[in-house]
Amino acid sequence: METIYCQGCGAKIQTEDENKVGYAPVSALEREDVICKRCFRLKHYNEVQDVDLTDDDFLNLLHEIGDHDGLVVNIVDLFDVHGSFVDGLNRFVGQNEIILVGNKVDLLPSSINLNKVKHWMKRVAKEFGLKVKDVYLVSSKTGTNMEECAFELERLRQGRDIFVVGCTNVGKSTFINYLINRSIEQEQVITTSYFPGTTLGFIDIPLDDQSSLIDTPGIINRHQMAHYLSKNDLKVITPDKEVKPKVFQLESDQTLFFGALARLDIDKVDERKGFVCYVSNDIHIHRTKTDKADLLYDQHAGELLSPPSDETLDEMPPLEPQTLQLNRNHKQDIVFSGLGWVTVPKGKTSVTAYAPKGVRIIVRDAII
Ligand code: GDP
Repeated sequence: METIYCQGCGAKIQTEDENKVGYAPVSALEREDVICKRCFRLKHYNEVQDVDLTDDDFLNLLHEIGDHDGLVVNIVDLFDVHGSFVDGLNRFVGQNEIILVGNKVDLLPSSINLNKVKHWMKRVAKEFGLKVKDVYLVSSKTGTNMEECAFELERLRQGRDIFVVGCTNVGKSTFINYLINRSIEQEQVITTSYFPGTTLGFIDIPLDDQSSLIDTPGIINRHQMAHYLSKNDLKVITPDKEVKPKVFQLESDQTLFFGALARLDIDKVDERKGFVCYVSNDIHIHRTKTDKADLLYDQHAGELLSPPSDETLDEMPPLEPQTLQLNRNHKQDIVFSGLGWVTVPKGKTSVTAYAPKGVRIIVRDAII
């Protein structure tokens, strides 16, 4: 096939993988001006769709952003903040200001102190080397705080372009689609325009005569649970409404299974205490004795312990243990990237946490 470039975003057209940059169905190649499926959706339905980017292209993409003057809007998933940060973003954004948007605020328990979350996010951003100008907590699905956020972005960009970046599944498309829908009349359609000098599939959505909102492809974060699961399993583990905390009173030598995706062994606690689990309401949490846990997993993973389902279990990397020493003076969260977290009360506690090999487990001070 001769090399064809999308007339919308400049990406190299390919016909193999619908989730990757530049995909167009074979039938589209007969047209004179070929555009990729993502540009087609924007052009005809005023809707952006996310596509994935490989690691190599990711570095080029960040360079492109650093070379332009604009406001960078980095979207992270509030349900998996550490997991959804983009590693290395700080090195490439150049002088551009960064606004952090924590999306999916509707999933957090309503008792949470959002100001505390904002401060905490600023600290996490710092750990990633990012100096953020401001943080907004929104739900692009329910619209919570979206008007304020859109208003502030308009003010802060001072006529410049806005680059929206994020890893896959943070809700970047939902966020942009919200902005598109609030700014246009029902039947008005956006035409994509070629973002000069890129072959990476930036989509350029005009904001006014001089500037645009630029949708960048989503970066695949391999340390997130989502990377290893089927679409169906992903549906189960991704919460779609406020997460209801589940409390388990546990003592030494007890184990919790989160489906067959993660496991937490309580190796030693000074006394029986309440461990609070924040995961999708649809994930079954199973409690057992640690000495029975291996056998239970061998016999029941994919059935009693699911997701993943029996069919997709084979494709998931095996669970790998990590022994964690928790700070006895603080309440802490053990976070399974993309799945949720367990809050451990203060006091002397040591646990072993298991997640599929490659999926990150981190310990943080409790956010609730
Ligand atoms: P992208 O890959 O970053 O473009 O993410 P999408 O916009 O495709 O969204 C990924 C998933 O998160 C979808 O299932 C969305 O319905 C869901 N989602 C997006 N925004 C929100 C939100 O604000 N709240 C909740 N609960 N879900 C959201």
